[in-house]
Amino acid sequence: MKQTLNIALVAHDSRKKELIDWVRYNVNLLSEHNLYATGTTGKLISNVGVAQDLEGGREVVSYLLRDKVTCLFSGPLGGDQQIGAMIAEGKIDMLIFFCDNLVMQGHQNDVSALTRLASLYNIAFATNRTTADMLLTSTLLGDKTYERVVPDCIQQYAHRKL
Ligand code: PGA
Repeated sequence: MKQTLNIALVAHDSRKKELIDWVRYNVNLLSEHNLYATGTTGKLISNVGVAQDLEGGREVVSYLLRDKVTCLFSGPLGGDQQIGAMIAEGKIDMLIFFCDNLVMQGHQNDVSALTRLASLYNIAFATNRTTADMLLTSTLLGDKTYERVVPDCIQQYAHRKL
């Protein structure tokens, strides 16, 4: 039995389609977890429908992620910072962040801050589809003996002598 994770998802506009394709591909796995997303990304994820054929050839669309996604503020309006704060508070286990690699963002400082915190707190962190697939299917997700190591430097910095 896998653990339920808190997974944060963010995609810049140029990569939203890529993230939604990834979400569609992994919809069943993702529905086992709690999802947190920046506003627009979250809205798109909520609307990912899965068509199911019922008996009699009738097709019904279900929205498996609708109840699973908490939509935060839009990224440029503070959503990236909300996710960063949740990482620092130990509330996020995994970040899937498809950021624009070609164009600087108006909120580039927030983007850098979010990726810095994901790295600092040693959470599972993917910025592309292949890595995101591998994270979500890792056998370590089901291993109760596996614990994320919070780097010593955090406590050391918090208690540094001044
Ligand atoms: P959005 O924010 O999901 O609200 O578009 C993403 C971002 O640009 O950080």
